[in-house]
Amino acid sequence: MQRRTFLKNSTVAALTSTLARPGVAGTGRAAGAKRIAFGGIQIECSTYSNIRARMEDFRAERDQELADDPFFRHLKTYPYPFHPTLLAAAVPGGPVERKTYDALKAEFLQRVTDLLPLDGLYLAMHGAMFVEGMQDADGDWIEAARSVVGKDCLMTASFDLHGSLSRRIIDNLDMLSAFRTAPHIDREETAQRACDMLIHCLDHSIRPTMVWSPIPVLMPGERSSTVYEPARHLWAQLPGLNAAPGVLDASLLVGYVWADEPRATASAVMTGTNPALLEKDALSLAQQYWDARKEFKFGVPTGTFSECIEQAERLTTHPVVISDSGDNPTAGGSGDRADALAGLLDHHVTNCLFAGIADRPATEACYRAGVGASLTLKVGATLDPEASQPVEVPAKVVFLLATSGLPERQAVVDVKGIRLVLTARRRPFHEIVDFTSLDLNPGSFKIVVVKAGYLVPPIAKIANPNLMALTPGAVNQDIVHLPSNKYRIASYPFVSDLQWKPFTIVSARSLQES
Ligand SMILES: [Zn+2]
Repeated sequence: MQRRTFLKNSTVAALTSTLARPGVAGTGRAAGAKRIAFGGIQIECSTYSNIRARMEDFRAERDQELADDPFFRHLKTYPYPFHPTLLAAAVPGGPVERKTYDALKAEFLQRVTDLLPLDGLYLAMHGAMFVEGMQDADGDWIEAARSVVGKDCLMTASFDLHGSLSRRIIDNLDMLSAFRTAPHIDREETAQRACDMLIHCLDHSIRPTMVWSPIPVLMPGERSSTVYEPARHLWAQLPGLNAAPGVLDASLLVGYVWADEPRATASAVMTGTNPALLEKDALSLAQQYWDARKEFKFGVPTGTFSECIEQAERLTTHPVVISDSGDNPTAGGSGDRADALAGLLDHHVTNCLFAGIADRPATEACYRAGVGASLTLKVGATLDPEASQPVEVPAKVVFLLATSGLPERQAVVDVKGIRLVLTARRRPFHEIVDFTSLDLNPGSFKIVVVKAGYLVPPIAKIANPNLMALTPGAVNQDIVHLPSNKYRIASYPFVSDLQWKPFTIVSARSLQES
């Protein structure tokens, strides 16, 4: 496997590196008996959203449930056990409520404390968390973890491609690996890279060097998909860089544009044992990214929602999949906006499927009424009534998902020839089964509207074609006109004529005496 190859290549350089040091574990236990913990927090938060992520929005896994999570099955292939702590993950959204964050962090730290002493800690992060009243929340979490595990423990992390780094994050980690694909189809590989590095460094008593180059460029994910140029060739070079002796990981991060905070930038970050090579690669990646900044474009045709409907009606193909991109819940949109529904009604569109709008009261009303019932529904703006307006519509209940969990409830209604999905909780429609489980065949409709940005592969496969509507919302693609930019540093395209030369920052961990 490729991931094993880089370890083999890096071993020789690593063992001869001046940064290799004996007794990295420092716990006094017999060589070979490594003790490793894992956990973390994963959420992407738009600071332009009025909604808050609360405890009930997180799926928290701990103990055996976390140990048995199929995503982490690779952890069972290592020679040392990875002990579960807490992993809290939520659908992207608004900032995390402070007391929710404090409670999750306290539990995580307690669980880590209970496992001390540790030789290694693996943090499965997203990297774009924002907490009420706090800057650099991921840095806060990582720094707190470091303070618990102590200076001799090696800490590795996996990050989303849309995570943003900071000095505090870099200075408290020993190694990091980020997704290399958008849409993200390499989540498990990335987690494996992060953990392979950790095991390799523990086995060979290496404290690696991390070299980071923050790049003052911010793009929405929709303009930096690795399916399209220039991102495709920028990210395609990472495996080659990673294969060089002395390199353990090569990562390039787009960062998260809908966060008004100083750490919101793109990043090149290299981990390894050859500082000069890491520096050279980080500078090269950063310069290339900077040079390409004006080439990032949407991969599909875009327009206002009205323009996309008109375009779809002119096309003879189907299904035309229109992305309601400003309210994409997988990027931090509220998912409760009804602007697109109003647009469909204004254009008298029929033979259309809209999946879906998060609206618990309307969903509950449908369950109370039952299949076949007709009722008037006020749809939308239930989560963020400040940001948008509801639409009142006549509806006929067509289908109700049988489920015992209230948050999992989903209703399909007919609204003047539009099949509309209402959901009790915020959620994406990313898999074909998300439709078929509601007795819907998206391929049979002329137009399918989804709250999404770029399409994930299963939906992209059926889109014929995909049009991206540049709609309003907490993840509005018109980033230059975002309403408040108080904290972000001067970056492109917010400062269109910005002058910049790449530079690097070496992790304080790499410079510390062991
Ligand atoms: Zn992402």
